[in-house]
Amino acid sequence: MTVIQKKKQTGDSQIAHLTPEDVEMLGIELDAIRQSVIDTRGASDAAYIRKVIKTQRSLELGSRAVLLFSIFPPAWLVGTAGLSVAKILDNMEIGHNILHGQWDWMRDPKIHSTTWEWDHATPAEQWKVSHNELHHNFTNVVGKDNDLGYGIMRVDEDQPWQPFYIIQPVWNFLNALFFEYGIAAYDLELRGALASKKTKDPEFRKQAKKVVNKIRRQMTKDYVVHPILSGPSALHTLAANFTANIVRNVWAHSVIMCGHFPEGVETFERKSIEGETHGEWYLRQMLGSANISGSPLMHLMSGNLSHQIEHHLFPDLPSNRYKEIAPKVEALFEKYGLSYCARPLPQQVYSAWHKVVRLSLPNGWLEATTRKNLPSQLGKLYKMVTGTPRERRLIQASLTREVRRLKAA
Ligand SMILES: [Zn+2]
Repeated sequence: MTVIQKKKQTGDSQIAHLTPEDVEMLGIELDAIRQSVIDTRGASDAAYIRKVIKTQRSLELGSRAVLLFSIFPPAWLVGTAGLSVAKILDNMEIGHNILHGQWDWMRDPKIHSTTWEWDHATPAEQWKVSHNELHHNFTNVVGKDNDLGYGIMRVDEDQPWQPFYIIQPVWNFLNALFFEYGIAAYDLELRGALASKKTKDPEFRKQAKKVVNKIRRQMTKDYVVHPILSGPSALHTLAANFTANIVRNVWAHSVIMCGHFPEGVETFERKSIEGETHGEWYLRQMLGSANISGSPLMHLMSGNLSHQIEHHLFPDLPSNRYKEIAPKVEALFEKYGLSYCARPLPQQVYSAWHKVVRLSLPNGWLEATTRKNLPSQLGKLYKMVTGTPRERRLIQASLTREVRRLKAA
């Protein structure tokens, strides 16, 4: 049974009304949307990506030049802001999308998924495997999709609660600050290698060496070469580069969280998705993604991942075309009775963080807590964190009963 079929059996599924024929028809209609873009890809799209790359390169160069004088506060501010934007463009609208092969049809060896490298701790080659093959195929499948909770977070009520989940908001915040290193670690499958003591494995060592070399190159550029070139502004330039990296990391982490983590976005069980049809694959992408509504600037800065739903349906279409097909995709959601999750950035970020906090607590704790009963609820939480598994089970059962009673009232 595929994950979609299983979901349909559960009572409150939003796809219970769809027949297998509906799902296959949906797939055919989505294929037609995809084909309409492929048939019209051409010179204006190529001009678009070349313009974005040129703008990014000029912005980075200009900002680094301004930072040569970063000892002066206005130069520091302008240079840091410019470099932050340049790094965001490099990773989001340029790197992520080129590495998906969105521009391979141009047959330009300089703008090609096989040759592109980006301003990021993880080498492009490793990221392509974990992102294009794992994340995009196993979207929101718990335990399979590294982007979902990065294997260390509780992302669904059905995952049993454990005391260490209580710190997941802190962990998520740290992950946001140093996101590129987090990604490098997932791409390398560092956690699994440490757990299974495979760090001496020659293949692991080979890949780890590539990551270390990439990080060294990135660090040399941002924390050695450019500061030295800045002479008396060296320390200020170093601080500016550090700040720009943090800004880029937090931005990328926020956009990615908005794409798959807000309330209402579905997750799927870790089980075989063997037998999933083409239509069911599309349906899982639709249920597992969310968009950020906003201005053209928002779309550009998010690398068009503001159109995460369209991106997940068609990861290899040029990013500048997502906004044109978005109304057609949304019309299909409506036609098939599905909810198209799109909200402005602050709302999506809030929703995603709310879910991180809610799931860091035992099921029902947040719902059953009021200002009045807060002390006793905190007492229960303390017992759940410090108690035995049996005590945890008992308190969990009482929380579940409490929530059921509240819902019935
Ligand atoms: Zn992607």
